[in-house]
Amino acid sequence: MFKRILIANRGEICLRIMRACREMGIETVCVYSTADKDAPYLRLADRAICIGTGPAKESYLNIARIIAAAEIADVDAIHPGYGFLSERPDFSQACRDCKIEFIGPTPEAMAMLGDKVACKQTAKANKVPIFPGSEGAIEDEEEAVGVANKIGYPVIIKAAAGGGGRGMRVCRNEATLRSSIRAAQQEAAAAFGNGAVFIEKFLEHARHIEVQVLGDKHGHAVHLFERDCSMQRRHQKVIEEAPAPGLNPKKREQVCESAARLIRAAKYHSAATVEFLMDQDQNFYMLEVNTRVQVEHPVTEMITGIDIVKATIMVAAGHELPWRQKDITMRGHAMECRINAEDPDKGFRPCAGLITRFEPPGGPGVRMDTHVVTGYTVPPNYDSMIGKLICHADDREQCMNRLARALREFHVEPIKTTIPLHERLMQDGPFRQGGIDIHYLERLLK
Ligand code: ADP
Repeated sequence: MFKRILIANRGEICLRIMRACREMGIETVCVYSTADKDAPYLRLADRAICIGTGPAKESYLNIARIIAAAEIADVDAIHPGYGFLSERPDFSQACRDCKIEFIGPTPEAMAMLGDKVACKQTAKANKVPIFPGSEGAIEDEEEAVGVANKIGYPVIIKAAAGGGGRGMRVCRNEATLRSSIRAAQQEAAAAFGNGAVFIEKFLEHARHIEVQVLGDKHGHAVHLFERDCSMQRRHQKVIEEAPAPGLNPKKREQVCESAARLIRAAKYHSAATVEFLMDQDQNFYMLEVNTRVQVEHPVTEMITGIDIVKATIMVAAGHELPWRQKDITMRGHAMECRINAEDPDKGFRPCAGLITRFEPPGGPGVRMDTHVVTGYTVPPNYDSMIGKLICHADDREQCMNRLARALREFHVEPIKTTIPLHERLMQDGPFRQGGIDIHYLERLLK
């Protein structure tokens, strides 16, 4: 096992990884920017190294500085968490070049699955259902129109290298498609350094269903069932839960098995998430693969009892996964509310600043993953998520009652957060019934 790990991240996920390491007897090295220099979680690390100033480019996205810190601290491995460098094949490669174990996939597996066009091709070859659309990247307007006529409108144009909900355009007729294709290519080239775009069928009333998978370096891969992340705003997840409400058990087996099959075919090790959209008849189409630990991994941990972060560390150290598929079962229901420092009354504008009162909830079935304490100042430089409240109970109804109770105990002052929004959603009729689509929240907030 590793003796010392560097965590190339910040905030709640940095703390989450540190907690796993401590329980495994592994020393931790945290890197931080000057904007995070007073963050209390840094005191829990065995060593903390400043790697630059607030802007992420100067610190958490700076590969050379992170590798230099890893060499100074003489670590065996680097955990990237999510966001920042976690899905950058060049970072995984830089670790390999320096003989530091990257706790995640190889640069090759990451590059293949991270490219949406290549990923779809591998999916197709392994009988994983994908959206009808272009086989590869679209060259020009005429080709785009040809594909759209074949699959029917509406269609969506996506960047092969896109991410974070950016670089997508929905086209409902030929005129918009013609006027969008060139702009989409230019935009993709500017935003992602790769101008390749492709077209697929656009599904109007979709649910977002994703499957958690784990692979090891010995060719084994298992799935940890699915999550439903349909509660979204601007393609950003707001609430995630497991299992997906109302999912037919046969469909569950099909979607989970196809995700595990894809990961095996990619010779993938570490944690990954295969994302799908599901239509009203519970047909699935793969969207993309995320080659890292996800924000919402705790809901899966709660229903399966498996520590996903520890699993990524074990697998990176060369251990075999200790379970076969039949050993993995789920119990009860779990749901996560992302707590963001945002003002829901002002268009969800981020609210940085000093927190003078932070009282998180507790009690049975409540898990709070956060790096925030009273006296913490939310820096303006990064993502507005300040923590995640996760509840587990025997069934979905009790889980939502528990979350409603926990949210009521939760006090954050004076900055605005999404807590009141979550309180409202816990009482929302259609959501309580289960099976809302990915545009539900935006319709509700209109
Ligand atoms: P990103 O990598 O930017 O997150 P995804 O491919 O995962 O891109 O898509 C993000 C979101 O865009 C999805 O969760 C869904 O809301 C919407 N979307 C993407 N593709 C389709 C599609 N074919 N039909 C309907 N909605 C889609």
